[in-house]
Amino acid sequence: MQTRLPDSLLATLEGATADAILRKCVHCGFCLATCPTYQLLGDELDSPRGRIYLIKNALEGGQGAATTLQHLDRCLGCRACETTCPSGVRYHQLLDIGRRAVQARVARPWRVRLTRALLRRGLLSPLFAPALRLGQSIRPLLPAALRDKVPVADRPRVAGSGRAPQAGGRRQAQAQAQAQAQASAGHAVILPRGCVQPHLRPAIDTATEQVLAALGDRVLRPAAAACCGAMPAHLDDIAAARAQARANIDAWWPLLESGAARAIISNASGCGLALRDYPDWFADEPVYAARARRVADAALDIAAWLAQRREAWPAHWTATPRQTVAWHPPCTLQHGLAAGPSTEATLGELGFDLRRPADAHLCCGSAGAWSVLNPELADELRRRKLETLDTQAGEAIVTANIGCQQHLAARSSRPVRHWVELLAAREGAAG
Ligand code: SF4
Ligand code: SF4
Repeated sequence: MQTRLPDSLLATLEGATADAILRKCVHCGFCLATCPTYQLLGDELDSPRGRIYLIKNALEGGQGAATTLQHLDRCLGCRACETTCPSGVRYHQLLDIGRRAVQARVARPWRVRLTRALLRRGLLSPLFAPALRLGQSIRPLLPAALRDKVPVADRPRVAGSGRAPQAGGRRQAQAQAQAQAQASAGHAVILPRGCVQPHLRPAIDTATEQVLAALGDRVLRPAAAACCGAMPAHLDDIAAARAQARANIDAWWPLLESGAARAIISNASGCGLALRDYPDWFADEPVYAARARRVADAALDIAAWLAQRREAWPAHWTATPRQTVAWHPPCTLQHGLAAGPSTEATLGELGFDLRRPADAHLCCGSAGAWSVLNPELADELRRRKLETLDTQAGEAIVTANIGCQQHLAARSSRPVRHWVELLAAREGAAG
């Protein structure tokens, strides 16, 4: 694609980056077929190619328009278009640059601004947990739209087993003894602090720790670390996202450099993708960019870590009868991290019989804060997703990201779980 960005913009890192990305697009339109918003709305301006034109126009000095911002805001950021694109267009990076440029010139409607501000502050506030507990206690009384966002209270529990994780007694003592015996052969790994996941679904962290203990690995959680920064980044608050990323880099980098920690393990693919994006967030700060690269290289989804630690798998993980589950691969996993096939292969080795619907490449409509900002579109994408997942057999719908899990669970007739919860349940069964 030919471009005519002003020289003043080309002289900046963002401008040069945007220009290079725009020039890679050959207008072929292959990406339209896998874009959820184009499928829903049928408008070229709600497709990747249409948005690329809008961004090009805005960066070349065209009038910023409220409708341009609306089309950009409707993008889920699912990156399905990047998986499809034969030219390797890094669309998500262009979207971030384009949206920042347009929103600097055009104000969003006040209701949207208010919702975004509440999301930015509310989800990371210390008041989030008490507010969630209050919402859970009066959940049946809440309006349906709000009830969707407030999951039923979740005790730390291993899904599939119907039991709370081993909280005491003989089995716990056996598990601890086994873990300690293996610990000398295991590795120390960093488990990032989530922001909403520990409150919405604490069972995921509990299950992850059980699975790592079964490998003999030790969990490090430096107190100075923060949330990954994905949520403010989704809401275009790059300053807040960078502040959180900087806190994490400062807390983790010394552990990685000294060899005290072997890897950073993510049990939410949305967070894992944010960690992989850290080098882009610090592209204009050479010292932090290098450290961010180190962090990004050490970041692994829990499935990728299990694949590396195959020799330490307890025998009962693979000896159990195969478990049939309907599989929803999050966009952050399959398009962002490009780890869909490798995750599926590892889960297959672990005895999961994954039933994957035909539209598995499409977003479920969660997409971080997007579902709150675009409720009608999010509802329709979820309806379509559950319709196809319901054609697949399985005791549960299984996924790998808290956002998808909560979004689907609000309307699913079957339980929706992170697969690590089902794997950890085998620990209890073997005790
Ligand atoms: S990121 Fe997703 S919603 Fe946005 S343009 Fe690409 S495919 Fe469409
Ligand atoms: S598939 Fe890639 S090259 Fe083709 S129009 Fe879409 S972004 Fe451009």
